[in-house]
Amino acid sequence: MPETEPWTLEHKVTWFVQVRTLNSRPDSEGARWRETEATGLVLAVCNCGLNTGWIPKADMTAQPALADVQQHAALIAQAETDRSQRCRS
Ligand SMILES: [Zn+2]
Repeated sequence: MPETEPWTLEHKVTWFVQVRTLNSRPDSEGARWRETEATGLVLAVCNCGLNTGWIPKADMTAQPALADVQQHAALIAQAETDRSQRCRS
């Protein structure tokens, strides 16, 4: 049986943008409208368990958790490079 490398958790970050909606009351003709807008908060989660919680988009670079996310981006880029090199050989 061939040896295998150990199982590893890959870093796969997903970003969410928080939105809220405003539903109007029916107008004189019974029509309703809905308005949607971003609250200004964003959240990142990773397959490894990283979760920034809701953080202000404007303060993203000041959040310690985001530094982890940026490191994740570097790790993901490296993993994709390694993967493509493995596929070529
Ligand atoms: Zn991760």
